[in-house]
Parts: sequence; C-alpha cells; structure tokens
Amino acid sequence: MVDLKSQYEKIKSEIDSGIQEVINTTAFINGPAVKEFQANLEKYLNVKHVIPCANGTDALQIAMMALDLKPGDEVITASFTYVATAEVIGLLGLTPVLVDVYPDTFDIDVEAIEKAITPKTKAIVPVHLFGQCANMERIMTLAEKHNLFVIEDVAQAIGADYIFTNGTKAKAGTIGTIGCTSFFPSKNLGCYGDGGAIYTNDEVLAKKLKMIAHHGQSVQYVHDVLGVNSRLDTIQAVVLNAKLKHLDKYAAARNSAASFYDKAFANHPKLKIPTRVKHSNHVFHQYTLQLVNVDRTKLREQLQERGVPAMIYYPIPLHEQNAYKSNRYKSGDFPVTEKLCACVLSLPMHTELDEETLNYITTTVLELVK
Ligand SMILES: *Cc1c(COP(=O)(O)O)cnc(C)c1O
Repeated sequence: MVDLKSQYEKIKSEIDSGIQEVINTTAFINGPAVKEFQANLEKYLNVKHVIPCANGTDALQIAMMALDLKPGDEVITASFTYVATAEVIGLLGLTPVLVDVYPDTFDIDVEAIEKAITPKTKAIVPVHLFGQCANMERIMTLAEKHNLFVIEDVAQAIGADYIFTNGTKAKAGTIGTIGCTSFFPSKNLGCYGDGGAIYTNDEVLAKKLKMIAHHGQSVQYVHDVLGVNSRLDTIQAVVLNAKLKHLDKYAAARNSAASFYDKAFANHPKLKIPTRVKHSNHVFHQYTLQLVNVDRTKLREQLQERGVPAMIYYPIPLHEQNAYKSNRYKSGDFPVTEKLCACVLSLPMHTELDEETLNYITTTVLELVK
C-alpha cells in the first residue's frame, strides 16, 4: 500500500546524518531538532502554535483535556472514521455522538451535525478523511451559533488547503479551535515510528496544551493540572524536518497517481471514483473506490494473487464495534456509513508510484471487474 523504502533512499544522507547526530549528542528527548521542527511546521501551516506530541491519538486526547470537557459532555464526530477519534472521547468519559457522512466525499454531514446538537454538546470533531477537508466554513458557522469548540482531526490531511467561498485559503487544522495530526509512518507526513502534533492560534490554549503534554507542568516539578507524558522523540523530529521540505512535492505525486486512477476508472459502471470538492484540495492519503455490485472479498483475493494490495478503510462502522455499541444507536442508524463500510476499497497510494506500477494496478483491476 505504501513504499517508504524508496522514499527514504532519496533523502537517506540527510536522515542518516541527522539521526547519527542525535545519537552522538545523546539529545534523545527534546533535542534541538524538535524545536526546529515545531518552528518549521508553524511556518508551513501558517499557524501560531504547534505542540509536538507522541502520536495522533494523544493529540486528540490532549486537545479535549485542554478544553476542560467534563464527563457527560457530548462531542459530535463522524461514524465513518478511524477509531482513535471516538476512542479518546470515550476515554475521557465524554459522550461520543456519531453522525453520518456524505456518500460522495466521505466527509461529516453538516446537516446531521446540526440535528445532533443538544444543550450538552460541547465540541465537534470533523475528520478530514482520506486527505480532503470537511466543510469547515459551514461547521464553523454552526459552532459559532451554538458556542461549540471545533477540534479538527487532520491525521489524514496534513498540508491540505481549505478554500473559503471568498477564495482565501488556510491549511487544514488551522481553522477550528485546535487541529490534531499524526506522523504515523504511513501518514502523508510520516516519521519512522510514532509522532503527532497539536495546532492552535490561541495563545492561552497553546500554553495549556503544552502543559498537559508535559505532565501538567508549568515549571519543572510544579504540576498545575492533570497531564500526560506525550513527547515527540528527537530522532523522529529529524525525520520530519527532512520530509516536511518535500511535503508539497509528495502531495503532488499522490495527486498524479490519483489522476491516473481517475482516468482509468472514470465512467466504469462498477467503480465509483472519489469525488473532489470545491472547498478543499486533496492530498490523497487514500484513494478510495466505491464498488457497485462487485464481490469485494473475492476481488481483494484476486488482486492479492496478482500482487496488488488493496485495503478496506473501514470495514465496520463505529456504532457496530463492540467497544462503541450503545443503546443510543442500532444498525440502520447511519445508512451512508453502513453502505460505505460494505463497498469501499482503497488502492495503493504513496509518493513513489511510477507509471508502470500504476498501469499494472489499473489494468489488473479492470480485468477483474468486468
Ligand atoms: C491515524 C489516525 C489517528 C491516530 O493517529 P496515531 O498517530 O496512530 O495515534 C487519528 N485519527 C485519524 C483519522 C487517523 O487516520
């Protein structure tokens, strides 16, 4: 699905010497590369504060802790997403309120958000799924009207531009109250282990986020609030510094692979290509097809036999997962999510897909789906 080895070969000398330097200076924790990366990412995103942390799940958890959400508060998020988003809501004793997504774009349904708002609602967590932004302009209008926080889950969309109706742009994750991202190796900006970051333009919130990520500590051994231990390793910051410089180029490579797929599959009666929206560019974390009347299990097996990996993101809706089942929901409550879970198929998507490989993948898919 991804080829991190070939990508590494191209930046090997910078990464190898940077990692060696960390070892030579034993600056494993909070070394200079972490600060450098923080500043570089702030500049790239045009956001006032980036707080690096240990992973994307921690980023979401720390964000919710910093907003002083209390047990019983309701947090609205999409039913079609990676589990981490709902997991931290549950972990903090908050109530995850799921809403459906749009059938064409996989993004959270704004009308459904509005219907789900109650006096207990405190926050909305839109997920910019697969690399394209949710409709932030409409979500922010709703949030302002009902006085809600917005935590953007940017784990799959780092670098994506949100395009406002007036034509101005802002990076995904810098529009809501807080943005949370992940540097898991296969993400668009991935390190060589775990990593994450939190973004905000709010000075007071930034201080609090930083404090919570460091044991609730303002000054060493003085703990003002309940915190966690969540740091980005210096070695990972070295990798991220090297790769951030290429992030736009990486997004362009993903887009050309996506265009190749689009061209091959457009107008096919059994393959529905991903819809692009006007309010965002796409950084194609995943290229996800919807299959129409195709035996997905069989197709995956046949693709596998011919050396083409394909994955199902995500096979089971959150409300049907044992850990998230509640009397709040039953099967049938989120028809779009349920349909998507049964028909989506993601093809290989990364920065190193050459035309020969893309040609092999598309020809194989077209041979198997008649
Ligand atoms: C990957 C991911 C996360 C979690 O990131 P980790 O670094 O793996 O903890 C959260 N939300 C979404 C949508 C993700 O894709």
